[in-house]
Amino acid sequence: MYESTRGNLSGQRASQAITLGMVPSGGLFVPSIIPTLNWQDLQGLSYRDVAKRVMSPYLPDFTESALSKIVNVYADGTFDGSNPAPLVSVGSFGVLELWHGPTAAFKDMALQVLPDLLKDSLKLLNLDSDVLILVATSGDTGKAALEGFKNRDGMNIVVFYPEGGVSPVQERQMTTTEGMNTHIVAVKGNFDECQTAVKRIFASDTLKAKLQEKKLIFSSANSINWGRLLPQIVYYFWAYLQAVEQGKVVPGETMNVVVPTGNFGNIQAAYYAKRMGLPIGQIICASNKNNVLTDFFATGIYQSQRDFFQTISPSMDILVSSNFERFLYEMSGRNAEQIQTWYDSKNQGTFTVDPATLKQCQDAVYAGWADEEDTLETISQSYKAYQYVFDPHTAVAMKVYNDYLSATNDQTYTVIASTASPFKFASNVLTGLEGEKDKSWKDEWEALDYLSKLTEWEIPMGLQGLDQKPEKSVKACEPEGIAELLQKMFT
Ligand SMILES: *Cc1c(COP(=O)(O)O)cnc(C)c1O
Repeated sequence: MYESTRGNLSGQRASQAITLGMVPSGGLFVPSIIPTLNWQDLQGLSYRDVAKRVMSPYLPDFTESALSKIVNVYADGTFDGSNPAPLVSVGSFGVLELWHGPTAAFKDMALQVLPDLLKDSLKLLNLDSDVLILVATSGDTGKAALEGFKNRDGMNIVVFYPEGGVSPVQERQMTTTEGMNTHIVAVKGNFDECQTAVKRIFASDTLKAKLQEKKLIFSSANSINWGRLLPQIVYYFWAYLQAVEQGKVVPGETMNVVVPTGNFGNIQAAYYAKRMGLPIGQIICASNKNNVLTDFFATGIYQSQRDFFQTISPSMDILVSSNFERFLYEMSGRNAEQIQTWYDSKNQGTFTVDPATLKQCQDAVYAGWADEEDTLETISQSYKAYQYVFDPHTAVAMKVYNDYLSATNDQTYTVIASTASPFKFASNVLTGLEGEKDKSWKDEWEALDYLSKLTEWEIPMGLQGLDQKPEKSVKACEPEGIAELLQKMFT
């Protein structure tokens, strides 16, 4: 069963939690019990079968055959190569490449299964409605969600992104999506304003009622939806199984993970994997210049009222880190009353946790951050040292890992979650590799080819020929205008 982090709802089945996306009166769904799983029992299984075993205890209302169909996406060629999430040895550590899906970012790992999870959830609830998926994106979620939901019967998707806040490749990836049921809106504001406006829509009863007349219900494909988080737990098990197989860890020995973090979904999945019994040692949270989380782990003060920076790792340009609420729920000893107080809207995203909770947080996670210069330098140094190219997000993680090593000298085998292909951010990566001067590439599209020539890495399928594909029109709107726009589009 699932319950709300704010104590305002409990006893919900998985299908209900996934359909609703978030708790209508505020709060996020969390499993009321975190099941345990013996990783040894997964040895020798394919990714698909590991996914099934890891996800199934969280989905008791789904039949086994339904779940089998859902996880088949990991074996049907949607992800290139035979391994959807290879653990690549780089230097003395491992890089878990989570970007072999159709959009070259890790969000495919979950967004390729969410539409099926949702479809089956609706069936289980006997809901005879179509779904309207609303997504706020800082860049990568948008395209991954569009790809997952395009051309699906009974499902419409609208993606909202901050105008000027995503990379040219990210933007073009979104606008070249096929499908009559896919819509894109550029919101005037930064990602937080965009996300907050979309969250408000979920709480708007008037719009909900109007859509209901059209047999349309809202759901969310953001990582506030449990159906997004759950598939992400799988690849931490998969990483460990590979580390054992590669002889990097002795069975049972711990493995550290470093996660480039924005909305805290990916790292929260690592935390759940550890709670399930996977031998994870230190969990390391890496932020970019929007280092609200680093400050929190140092002080216990969550202060989202601060300057917002647009960085070269845009998918981490987040100050209101949604899934952090799930983390604090666990760290406070599941104190829903406390969570409700901290997240009360009158605090406007700023609160201080008690010393006991802070201690729990600090014991569970090590946090650090990297500025823009550090990030570019890390891309260049890593390439020189290992001939391995990091995208700017993963480079942030690499930098924080180096800082962690200097601070602790912890020799535990460590896996860095690599969240995007470097080609997704080619010109920034090239700036790291070659410096600002004498740019040999004219635009983002040339940068892709140039990076490919330089590194002899292939451009991922999903990024090839993007500049040639027809684009769909993008609607523009103010954060306050979203409700009206949706009403116009769907009622
Ligand atoms: C979304 C994203 C992140 C941040 O992940 P969260 O789960 O939101 O913390 C990091 N890197 C890339 C490339 C992303 O797309």
